[in-house]
Amino acid sequence: MDGFAVRAADVANASQQKPAKLRVIADIPAGRTPDTVIQPGEAARIMTGAPLPEGADCVIPVEDTDFNYRQPGLPAPSEVCIYRATREGANVRPAGEDVKRGELVMNAGHRLRPQDAGLLSMLGQAHVKVRRRPRIAIFSSGDELVDVNQPLSPGKIHDANSYTLVGLVRQSGGEAINLGVAADNPHAVRALLERAVQSEADLIVSSAGVSVGALDFVRSVVEQEGSLTFWRVNMRPGKPIAFGNYHGIPFIGLPGNPVSAYVGFEVFVRPALLKMQGAVQLERHWQIARLMEPVESDGRETYLRATVRFHEDEIQARFTGHQGSGNLLSLVQANALLFIPSGVKSLPSGSLVRIFLLDEVV
Ligand code: AMP
Ligand code: MG
Repeated sequence: MDGFAVRAADVANASQQKPAKLRVIADIPAGRTPDTVIQPGEAARIMTGAPLPEGADCVIPVEDTDFNYRQPGLPAPSEVCIYRATREGANVRPAGEDVKRGELVMNAGHRLRPQDAGLLSMLGQAHVKVRRRPRIAIFSSGDELVDVNQPLSPGKIHDANSYTLVGLVRQSGGEAINLGVAADNPHAVRALLERAVQSEADLIVSSAGVSVGALDFVRSVVEQEGSLTFWRVNMRPGKPIAFGNYHGIPFIGLPGNPVSAYVGFEVFVRPALLKMQGAVQLERHWQIARLMEPVESDGRETYLRATVRFHEDEIQARFTGHQGSGNLLSLVQANALLFIPSGVKSLPSGSLVRIFLLDEVV
């Protein structure tokens, strides 16, 4: 506190009517070590952040003295009147109050947040051992895709997934290597997989070309130089997901529809990325919300785009527009994904459901 360092015994009977008058023998700003010793009847002016001088055992805030001025730059008075008694140790932070010697401040696997960097700096830890960012090679596939910088011609659409996936990888602590778009032929798909290998990726993530279309070559090309562990999962959106390896590098083939690719990333890629970084907390922070409208499902594990808001001590969830898996706007308008477990076909309005917030960094 900004105030006066005193001996509590000297001010034990101090009051507004009977102030304790002390001699001010030192002025101690933050950043100095005091070399004075406070004797009975003495005080030192002291600033927040300065070490307590020897002899003193508490600090009286300026507000409780007759030296209660707001303007900076005033020299210390030669005497001060204290209006209030206090106890030993008042307004003093003992050494070790925050962190004790030898205390564990962070566990391995903890993801460093801004406040963690602050604490490490405060403890003088300029260098700590961390996991390197995993390198994730990303490519899209489809003859219809053109980059956002290129003009559209009939039959074409702009590639959305590459950019979404790059952002999601970065948000999850990975380094994204964007390989662009592979055309719908085995040669083009293999070329990008080879580039992923050359770039020393730790994980390859593709989107599209893993369904049952006549030109969906991604799976067969992966199997030529690797293997698939599973293909298709019982969820919606995001059913045609493939997992395996290419040249020994883990491979996740996400569906092409933009919302499916996003949800597939959330459910499969993000936890993998976190695990590769040694994180302990892999799951999103689930919360309970009240559904404000009824919902139908087909019995698969389902992730729906919702807006949630806090209202009357609960989280209320509503859906954002049409839930088609190509409708990216309804994902953009959402702030949460709402979870419906497999086996559930309908829920009435008012049901309690699980949600997790989007854009929350775990
Ligand atoms: P596919 O899995 O290849 O059958 O693609 C499913 C749907 O997603 C098709 O309508 C594609 O045009 C669309 N799609 C695939 N990749 C992308 C992408 N990168 N950006 C936007 N839409 C895509
Ligand atoms: Mg396709």
